[in-house]
Amino acid sequence: MEKPVILAVSSCRPKVFRGELQLNGTQATHCYFNPPIPEFIDSVTEYRERFLAHPPLAINRQRSNDMAIERFRNRHTIAELVTHNLNNYRSVDFTCEATIEQVAGNRDWFYKSCNDCSLRVLEDIDHPNRYTCRTHRTHATCKHTYCFKTIVNDTTTTAFFTFFLDAGNAIVGHTCKELVTVRGYDQPHELPPVVQAIEGQRIYCRSTT
Ligand SMILES: [Zn+2]
Repeated sequence: MEKPVILAVSSCRPKVFRGELQLNGTQATHCYFNPPIPEFIDSVTEYRERFLAHPPLAINRQRSNDMAIERFRNRHTIAELVTHNLNNYRSVDFTCEATIEQVAGNRDWFYKSCNDCSLRVLEDIDHPNRYTCRTHRTHATCKHTYCFKTIVNDTTTTAFFTFFLDAGNAIVGHTCKELVTVRGYDQPHELPPVVQAIEGQRIYCRSTT
């Protein structure tokens, strides 16, 4: 069937689900492909003006149990992803592959976070060992969480990726807690060599909008 295909759906019931408007089918619901109505021509014209000049990203929502397939599902370049409004692709898993060119050394590579969540804690300068989270209680201890910023490139463009939590653990190969509390890299503004060493590393990324 020649594109665009215009689908008219009748007799639906509007409903709000998880804060979003959606249409539910009823017994009277009918679907009409390319219906012979005046609005059909308007819809075709609008489609050609909006989408043919800037084609939407090809999307496959079917997940696979095979990780080798999953790693390439919805694979797009960074240039493609940054030139589209990803808010139009709700709950879509995008994948891309890139190289870490540089770890930004001009900003903190970790922060002290709450024991109950990943929010940054406030330290009480008058009372050591008092760490306060804005949504949880005050703790006597805190966690150490990666937050290092990198410049990545996939040959189409350059972008900034910031690594937090498990993504930081995976790419560095050590937990942030180990680097800070065991190896003694306890200054947030002094990048440890083991974090700097990820420069040049090839990464596979997956993001969900
Ligand atoms: Zn918290």
